[in-house]
Amino acid sequence: MTITLALSKGRIFEETLPLLAAAGIAVTEDPEKTRKLILPTNRDDVRVVLVRATDVPTYVQYGGADLGVAGRDVLIEHGGEGLFQPLDLQIATCRMSVAVRDDFDYDGAVRQGSRIRVATKYTEIARQHFADKGVHVDLIKLYGSMELAPLTGLADAIVDLVSTGKTLAANRLREVEPFMQISSRLVVNQAALKLKSAKLRELIDAFARAVAAQASTT
Ligand code: ATP
Ligand code: MG
Repeated sequence: MTITLALSKGRIFEETLPLLAAAGIAVTEDPEKTRKLILPTNRDDVRVVLVRATDVPTYVQYGGADLGVAGRDVLIEHGGEGLFQPLDLQIATCRMSVAVRDDFDYDGAVRQGSRIRVATKYTEIARQHFADKGVHVDLIKLYGSMELAPLTGLADAIVDLVSTGKTLAANRLREVEPFMQISSRLVVNQAALKLKSAKLRELIDAFARAVAAQASTT
């Protein structure tokens, strides 16, 4: 019985490696150097599939993978249907924020009850945030380079992930409202959890111990 773990290339793959190592699992190929989308590990019964970050919940939901690692942002946008979320891995941490062009009076616009045009890849998170604040917004869905929207007049504001703030600063944008802490979580297919219970529980427990060990050293 093989366990399939869905990961996205980049920070999630990199930051999941030490957790896998703590569970005795080593990925034996480098995703940056191969074109393969299925990577073997040192264990015959564990393999990694590489998918887009936003596709991880979908793979796990429908059983294309037994488990995966996905950001809280991606999970909220997906809805989390059919997913068991046993563990916050505390990796790929950042925050979800509202940012505007440095000359846009965001607080004034909010106070006056103006309609604000907001461009974002995270329409569900943005919708919830502004609904909670009682602010009327027109949401414009984008798939990347959100920073460009306020600079070109496409939107007044963006909702985007921020970690250092360097990208915002380089584009003369101002972070006006950080509102959600983001980290990545382990997600597990609910049917797989029953069918492959022993192996999945063992993995989840090893990950939990590794996360606790990392937290105690930082
Ligand atoms: P792509 O960059 O390929 O278009 P993506 O942005 O969805 O796709 P990543 O950049 O690998 O994929 O991000 C994966 C996850 O890592 C995000 O869903 C989020 O939870 C987290 N993340 C995104 N940007 C940052 C960041 N700057 N710092 C820390 N974590 C981040
Ligand atoms: Mg990215």
